[in-house]
Amino acid sequence: MTARLVLASRNQGKVAELRRILAADPALAGVRLLDADELGVPDVDETGATFADNALLKARSAVGACGLPCIADDSGLEVAALDGDPGVRSARYAGAHGDDDANLALVLQRMRGVTDRTARFVCVAALVAPDGGEWTAQGTVDGTLTETPRGKNGFGYDPIFQPAGQRQTTAEMTAPAKDVISHRSRALRATLPAVRRLLADQLLGDQSSPPMSTA
Ligand code: IMP
Repeated sequence: MTARLVLASRNQGKVAELRRILAADPALAGVRLLDADELGVPDVDETGATFADNALLKARSAVGACGLPCIADDSGLEVAALDGDPGVRSARYAGAHGDDDANLALVLQRMRGVTDRTARFVCVAALVAPDGGEWTAQGTVDGTLTETPRGKNGFGYDPIFQPAGQRQTTAEMTAPAKDVISHRSRALRATLPAVRRLLADQLLGDQSSPPMSTA
């Protein structure tokens, strides 16, 4: 029996990052990582007021749909001069959910002529077990906004976000270099001890359950 963990997101850029970060943990070698698209887990409306509320909403809803341990994240860009916007509305800042180009263009438009370009990426990862156990952890990365987009890697606001101490935007960095410092990897790595325990329990539970009847 293989332990299974569901990545409760339909954002393929994000799923790719989650897969990479989890696959880098030797304790999770051999764990089958499934995503929401593969399992047909439906999207949930992000009605929460905080990243943690939304991450838990997504993970709980996915557990309800598939009955497996699920990990979800909610993340976004907080810009100091915009009072923390786009924040929890990062994916739908310009209106349509997931229109990365329009969202990025709107941030640049609102930041035209603004000298304080301080910003940060925030991510809350939520792990929810079928028995109702829940864990959350937050990760952040500080930086500044560029005047114009640079780079083709990543997704969302990556082309205009330059992490503190870096010369490149996160869209100019390689995927492994972004993973070292990213808000998502920091949040996810903080949940790994709980992920490992949960998956070990999943395997133990399978071993101790009575054999299926062949009659
Ligand atoms: P959600 O977590 O699915 O609600 O979406 C978060 C949104 O925040 C994404 O659609 C992006 O616009 C933005 N975002 C979150 N993390 C990143 C990142 O690592 N790079 C660029 N944009 C991000």
